Amino acid sequence: MFDITDEERANLFPIILSEYNPAWPHWYTEEKERLTMLIGMEKIVRIEHIGSTAISGLMAKPTVDILLEVAENTRVDYLIASMPDNEYICLRQQTIPTNDLVLFIKGYTPSGFAKKVFHIHVRYPGDWDEIHFRNYLLAHPEAADIYSILKRKLKEQYEHNRDGYTNAKGEFIQAVTRRAKNLAERMDDFFRMTDDFKDERDKMIEEQLIPRGIASASVLDAMQNVPRHIFIPENLQNCAYSDGPVPIGSGQTISQPYIVAYMTEQLDPVPGMRILEIGTGSGYQSAILHYLGCKVFTIELLDELSDKAIKNFSALGFDGIRTKCGNGYSGWPEEAPFDAIIVTAAPESIPISLVDQLKDGGRMVVPVGKTHEVQSLRLLTKNGSQIIDNELLLVRFVPMVK
Ligand code: SAH
Repeated sequence: MFDITDEERANLFPIILSEYNPAWPHWYTEEKERLTMLIGMEKIVRIEHIGSTAISGLMAKPTVDILLEVAENTRVDYLIASMPDNEYICLRQQTIPTNDLVLFIKGYTPSGFAKKVFHIHVRYPGDWDEIHFRNYLLAHPEAADIYSILKRKLKEQYEHNRDGYTNAKGEFIQAVTRRAKNLAERMDDFFRMTDDFKDERDKMIEEQLIPRGIASASVLDAMQNVPRHIFIPENLQNCAYSDGPVPIGSGQTISQPYIVAYMTEQLDPVPGMRILEIGTGSGYQSAILHYLGCKVFTIELLDELSDKAIKNFSALGFDGIRTKCGNGYSGWPEEAPFDAIIVTAAPESIPISLVDQLKDGGRMVVPVGKTHEVQSLRLLTKNGSQIIDNELLLVRFVPMVK
């Protein structure tokens, strides 16, 4: 890096703690697109937002940490050559032991931090602690609060001593990670014990989703791990993984797996994102978004379906999904604005009341058209007062009842 002593570096880049900035997930999304372009989609196995800026509400050093998993055959020279060196600094020799193959940093300038600072941790695929730690804090806001308090205290103590600060935080991080891994293992055991459908799910991924172009690794991972049959009436469970919609009672249906995966992908979900769903139905779509780390709010018109969905969530230990029984046309004004809205019943025209509850830059996926006719699935993107409207696919959904 720049030719300076450790002491000068500590003064130039002191420990900074900022209040949570809701722009961080968006900086991550932008940078993810940039990295995909530079390195090439075929080399990337998974990209994840890790570290404190990934946890909504947490005080954090304002650097966006990104875990970039590359295929086993990717060479380090190739990675270095892919990154413009006026933009990224490549650090290979670390003083602290690390799992990174290479660490790229961006936004460190000779006069201090730029507005947007990134750490890109490049690794081969693995079961990384950082993901366990992040998921645990996302699911347990009270643990995230304790972490905030601890960081604030340590900052006072170690303002210009980064290593001291990092070591002192380590104990908390290790304890939480241990607990998270333990929990993940127990959940895996539970699913293995109760899951006779794993092979069918693998087949669904291989035969229905990948060939039709579902490419997001995180969406495929969610579809592979969330047990869809739990959301389907017992007498129809043998159809749970078939390539079509399945009745769920009260005259309603759960969408075809491909449509669930496709609509999810269009939302571009990242952990911490706030998403409103209209039409809870069985709860399967909400469960997929929850699995991806999103904060889900879902509204269902019919009590019997809403009640059943709540039972399904608790059977899987998916707590934190907010449910409401009511008419989806009103949305959820108390919780608005949302980063994304997904409508899984078809209105005859775009519900403006819902567009109003979308954040600037937010995305909404909605099937629009008449009952019992083919409808068009639309992706609306809000850009200030302008709405960009893209037609995606022809689909058939149950009507969104007025
Ligand atoms: N997303 C669901 C499938 C939804 S089927 C899943 O994953 O299983 C569409 C659902 O929308 C039905 O349950 C239906 O009762 C509900 N619905 C229809 N009109 C609605 C409205 N105006 N407000 C809220 N929910 C509505």
